[in-house]
Amino acid sequence: MNKKFAQVIIDNKSSSTDKPYTYLIDSDLVELVEEGMRVLVPFGLGNRVVKGIVIKIEENYFGSHKLKKIIDVIDDKPLISKDLIDLSIWMSEKYLSPYIDAFKAVLPPGDFKEVKTNILLEEVHDDIYNTLDTLEKSVVTIIHNNKGKIELGELKEQMNNRLTNKIIRQLESKGILTTSMEIQTSIEPKYEKYVYLKNRFNSREELNQKIGKRSYKQLEIAEFLFDKGEIPLKELMMEVNSSISTIKSMEKKGLIQIVNREIFRSPIKEDISPYKKHELTLEQRNCFDTIMDHINRNQSSKFLIHGVTGSGKTEIYLQLVEEMINKGKESIVLVPEISLTPQTVQRFVGRFGDRVAVLHSKLSYGERFDQWRKIREGKVKIAVGARSAVFAPFSNLGLIVIDEEHESTYKSSMNPKYDTLQVAEKRCDQFGSTLVIASATPSVESYYRSIKGEYKLLNLNKRIMNRELPFVKIIDMREELNSGNKSIFSKELYEAIEENLKDNKQTILFLNRRGHSTFVSCRQCGYVVKCNKCSISMTYHLKENRLKCHYCGLAISPPNICPVCKSKYIKYFGIGTEKVEEFTKRLFPNAVVKRMDLDTTSKKGSYESILNNMKEEKIDILIGTQMVAKGLDFKNVTLVGIIAADTSLNLPDFRSPERTFQLITQVAGRAGRGDFEGKVIVQTYNPEHYSIQLAQEYNYLAFYNKEVLIRKEFNYPPFTNIISIIIYGEDVKRVIIKSKEFYKILINNLKQINLIDFVDNIIGPFPAPLERIKNNYRYQIIIKCKNEYLDKLKTAIEWVFIYNRYKVDVTGIKFNIDINPNSIL
Ligand code: ADP
Ligand code: ZN
Ligand code: ZN
Repeated sequence: MNKKFAQVIIDNKSSSTDKPYTYLIDSDLVELVEEGMRVLVPFGLGNRVVKGIVIKIEENYFGSHKLKKIIDVIDDKPLISKDLIDLSIWMSEKYLSPYIDAFKAVLPPGDFKEVKTNILLEEVHDDIYNTLDTLEKSVVTIIHNNKGKIELGELKEQMNNRLTNKIIRQLESKGILTTSMEIQTSIEPKYEKYVYLKNRFNSREELNQKIGKRSYKQLEIAEFLFDKGEIPLKELMMEVNSSISTIKSMEKKGLIQIVNREIFRSPIKEDISPYKKHELTLEQRNCFDTIMDHINRNQSSKFLIHGVTGSGKTEIYLQLVEEMINKGKESIVLVPEISLTPQTVQRFVGRFGDRVAVLHSKLSYGERFDQWRKIREGKVKIAVGARSAVFAPFSNLGLIVIDEEHESTYKSSMNPKYDTLQVAEKRCDQFGSTLVIASATPSVESYYRSIKGEYKLLNLNKRIMNRELPFVKIIDMREELNSGNKSIFSKELYEAIEENLKDNKQTILFLNRRGHSTFVSCRQCGYVVKCNKCSISMTYHLKENRLKCHYCGLAISPPNICPVCKSKYIKYFGIGTEKVEEFTKRLFPNAVVKRMDLDTTSKKGSYESILNNMKEEKIDILIGTQMVAKGLDFKNVTLVGIIAADTSLNLPDFRSPERTFQLITQVAGRAGRGDFEGKVIVQTYNPEHYSIQLAQEYNYLAFYNKEVLIRKEFNYPPFTNIISIIIYGEDVKRVIIKSKEFYKILINNLKQINLIDFVDNIIGPFPAPLERIKNNYRYQIIIKCKNEYLDKLKTAIEWVFIYNRYKVDVTGIKFNIDINPNSIL
């Protein structure tokens, strides 16, 4: 007896059942079950029949349990390939994620349990039909009676025979059936009839001989098909002005073939114009050649391109992708959020047309599924998308590009809480492919790694056409106050806007809005209350009238007068885009002012409409958050104002100087992209701060050198890892008791395994910066830990929190564990 054993993951909410279960594969299914296929299995005490995914097939089983048997196999082909299965298991371990969540990241979009397999019947001629055995014949008959198409499950029901899957395979290999995956959505997939010439003719003469001159209509059709190849039936009828009966009779004669082809729902607008290939500049060429050199020598490598805004990074990606296509390999191109970078997508589609799949969160499930399937079935060569596109199911991946690699959207905050860069590295290792990450302002972590030699650093120092980077002017808001101006606009910004309006030029005003973080600062001297130990701005809590450090829990009373200059203008800082809009409209009543932030762009199409109005110069002043900082390219924008650089500088986050430097650089990159010079005005109470000073000079390297020293001194990444554990629930008392209990257990466990002395720091539990979200009270434990000990620590966390091995009653309590979160807010 030829039996095997399958490890199966089941979609179950409970964390105690979140692990692979071993099932027996009986001999009659052994040939049919493959890794990555779904199966029906009995589960739990009542042996409820559930769907699961086979993640591993083994020859032997050494356990002592009596194994249950797999009831049936659902799929005809694996939903996902081996490399993606391995990747999921790797993610679930690396990011302490439930298996099922890690698998959902790589499975087709939507509910994987709803994926169906359609079987389509091709033309079967009598002579072939007669060679089939009885079972094969009955399959063909059932599908034929069902108008040539049937869903696999239904077919199996009608056949009522365990061999059905096997028969389908046989028929598939004979070219009688084709199968395709589909997901149940409200939108039905569309099919269209296509026509092509059945035989290969080498010349028109050959064609003429076969058909004969007298059937001139048929000849016309055949000649048309000879030139065109395969075309839709409707189109053929129109083009040659022919009736369906003529075409049908040609089909009967075996001259042509009519087939059903599925029409893919496409999220790509059809009117994208071609994007022509540029001759690379010298700088671009050096960069391109270095990468290609490694690829041609079959060295899998990782590159960091540090290129100023407008240095033509995208053209390099495009040409690398083209080389990949020539080598028969596929590429993934990642952008921070597709809706914020429409240009990148347009360029890729403009150059590679329907060889591109686009993946992002605004697509419907049906659309996303279609894109996913096109990739899986090898119909496209390039996937462009937001972070989840890193899972694009290609089978011969040659290249992954990560554009704007410093962006925080590359870190997922939902399970699996993965870091896209790490996942991309892992996938490149699996395939031996090349990784290219790029930014004008690389993250400190990535640059540090390039200095250590883990990434090869490539520089692009000049803008294309040697365009100048815009002039950045820093305005000291303390002086404004001293000269009696209490408005949010400095005199210089006000005048610059006024002048811009007169010249019919456009202005962008930028505000970093993180409403919930208020800090205390002095408007006279710029002093900000910070924690001594952590160098983090302290956050004001209104209810208790206290200032708190979110990294170490220190709490103090806010000062009434400034400890530095003794002024009484020390106050809580925090202003929103709405306020700025209100002020602006009042100050410039004749200008068309529009606001762009999460509130004004939540409706579908509203983001595009604001952008179009901006492009058509119907807006004079655009006010916005992060959204206006990225990728926008308006030729008529000559002025960019940053209302308060301090809001990002004083976020209670160790990355705030880095974010500030990146923001100023990116926002400044929006000005002066056309023929007119651009100007940037940065308002701040901290004009001497290195991140502002160095952003003004566009001096990334100096910024990095300064920042990396601070990271080292205060022990932040890349020198350590930060793990955030949030304990939350609706009953605040219970949350407090349980978080204290878990804290103690964790400490004890770390002592037991001799890890306590190697973990840098464990603090908490204290109220999380966002103490209450959606009726849940949140308490937090923060741990710092070096790379060497991270795996051990993770095991301990898993043991204590996820598996709950100390059997704490956790009713009403949940955990949110994040390794190196974007911010601890
Ligand atoms: P980045 O992504 O580095 O900010 P882009 O790729 O947007 O820069 O390039 C800036 C502009 O320069 C774009 O309009 C692009 O079409 C153009 N460009 C890129 N490479 C070349 C080239 N070799 N010759 C001429 N124009 C180029
Ligand atoms: Zn002061
Ligand atoms: Zn602190």
